Amino acid sequence: MTGKTHSAAGILIGAAVGIHFQLDIFEMATCIVVSGLASIFPDICHTRSKIGQRLPIFSHIIKHLFGHRTFTHSSLFMFGVYYALHMIETPIYYMIGIICGMLSHVILDMLTPRGVHLFFPIPIRIRFPIHFKTGGTIDLSLATTFSFVTLYLLFESTMKQILNYFLQ
Ligand SMILES: [Zn+2]
Repeated sequence: MTGKTHSAAGILIGAAVGIHFQLDIFEMATCIVVSGLASIFPDICHTRSKIGQRLPIFSHIIKHLFGHRTFTHSSLFMFGVYYALHMIETPIYYMIGIICGMLSHVILDMLTPRGVHLFFPIPIRIRFPIHFKTGGTIDLSLATTFSFVTLYLLFESTMKQILNYFLQ
């Protein structure tokens, strides 16, 4: 999937988590940003990805050590990130946003023909029985759908807050 689709999914997750935990506007913005970043982070192994271009040295090291869509797209990596976040006592809503953001990346890549090495270091590629081309119509439609759902969620929760304010 394209970086756009991945980040749209991450932003949607961040907004949903923020609304669920009734975060204030600043925490909500942070939650959306960290989930959005988490959703593109696994592609650090791809030097031409958005995140890879931002952190080129790091990206080259990861690519040469593990290859594309292996370690950074595995359950091992997600568990490692969870453990690290747990150690630094990350608030639960950021934790859920980050882990679900990364999970959404892996699930979306499992919908592409190439699949992911979910069980790295075991070298088997996992993908769903149905898959779509990166940059194809389905990919673009997913990005658009995620963006609309995000806008709807944010709009609905804001409207509710405004109504509550006036009805109290
Ligand atoms: Zn990926």
